[in-house]
Amino acid sequence: MSGVQESFAEVFGYPPEGVWAAPGRINLIGEHTDYNDGFALPFALDRVLSVAAARRTDGTLRLRSRQEPRGAEIPVTDLEPGALSGWAAYPAGSAWALTRAGHHVGGMDLLVDSAVPTGAGLSSSAAMTCASALAMVHLYGIGSDRSDIARTAQRAESEFVGMPCGTLDQTAAMLATGGHALFMDTRSARTEHVPFDPPAHGLALLAIDTRAPHRLVDGEYAQRRSCCERAARTLGVPALRDVDPHAAGTLDALPDERTRRRVRHVVTENERVLETVRLLNAGQPREVGPLLTASHASLRDDYEVSAPEVDTAVDAALEAGALGARITGAGFGGCAIALVEAHRAQSCTAAVRDAFRGAGFTPPVAFEAVPSAGARWVSTVP
Ligand code: ADP
Ligand code: MG
Repeated sequence: MSGVQESFAEVFGYPPEGVWAAPGRINLIGEHTDYNDGFALPFALDRVLSVAAARRTDGTLRLRSRQEPRGAEIPVTDLEPGALSGWAAYPAGSAWALTRAGHHVGGMDLLVDSAVPTGAGLSSSAAMTCASALAMVHLYGIGSDRSDIARTAQRAESEFVGMPCGTLDQTAAMLATGGHALFMDTRSARTEHVPFDPPAHGLALLAIDTRAPHRLVDGEYAQRRSCCERAARTLGVPALRDVDPHAAGTLDALPDERTRRRVRHVVTENERVLETVRLLNAGQPREVGPLLTASHASLRDDYEVSAPEVDTAVDAALEAGALGARITGAGFGGCAIALVEAHRAQSCTAAVRDAFRGAGFTPPVAFEAVPSAGARWVSTVP
């Protein structure tokens, strides 16, 4: 029995009906493009959040986590935004979003166990809403496909938990496949699996959780979004996705230098995503390195969402011979990634650790990220 099954039996006193899992994700490139109708290229991690669950006949949802001391208990019929706070709002939100979509979800005991670090920008929250929704869909025989579940999970997080987010994280968690990144056109919702398998090319993709405290995340995020929306209106386009990157003088219509830099980030980042996809499809993953580094410079200087810890990680990785490195996730802390020759992974990690020690930062946590499968049904318990 896996750990999560045993824990379920200990907590609830009987075995679960099954176990479902959803991965964390890393965005390889395409940052702050999703709310501009643009492109992104996430992949799923080999680290998952697991959910063991069983139906109850009394309509009550009982929620527990191995990572949190407090659980929650609530009748499904009482679910509405604001009814629950804290972590339990994520799985409860999935039940609520399914009922809002017209499906029947009854009572359930649900226990969470996770290897996805929380709050590091690896999207443990989407792993939670996706794994929970998958368990509910399965146990209650709901006819939802993977894209439907991604939308359900997104609704759970944005409307029930109240965290404004696009669909990138949930779509990656549901639709990713091993050895590939997932190209997303956030306007059309079209996705495409793009070969991305660093180990097969003698490469390693290092993820470096800087453990930097997030600073001003919510307010800054909202400011970036509204700046982009205002700029699109000024330029007379539906979204910044529609700004022609090659038309000279386009940005002159914008009111100030800062807005021009914000727009330049979004426009050039979309181009970098498309170029990355082209290179990966051509079997040239090494050539992606400079695009990652250019993305970082753009996020640091034009979009101003980096943090000293992340810049330190990126600079140290590049000095140690990384092919490319960048901040990943919304920014103001969180994770950096570095694409390195596999034989340099260790020395690169050591260089980042040394740089953090020298700067007096909390030691980072580094690991190799291997593009892996999306959410899955792990097992049924007999
Ligand atoms: P990220 O998605 O980048 O990890 P978020 O702030 O969006 O960061 O989501 C983190 C939140 O998700 C946590 O504060 C907690 O409420 C919830 N969460 C994630 N993993 C777990 C877990 N294993 N147990 C309980 N809650 C969790
Ligand atoms: Mg999240």
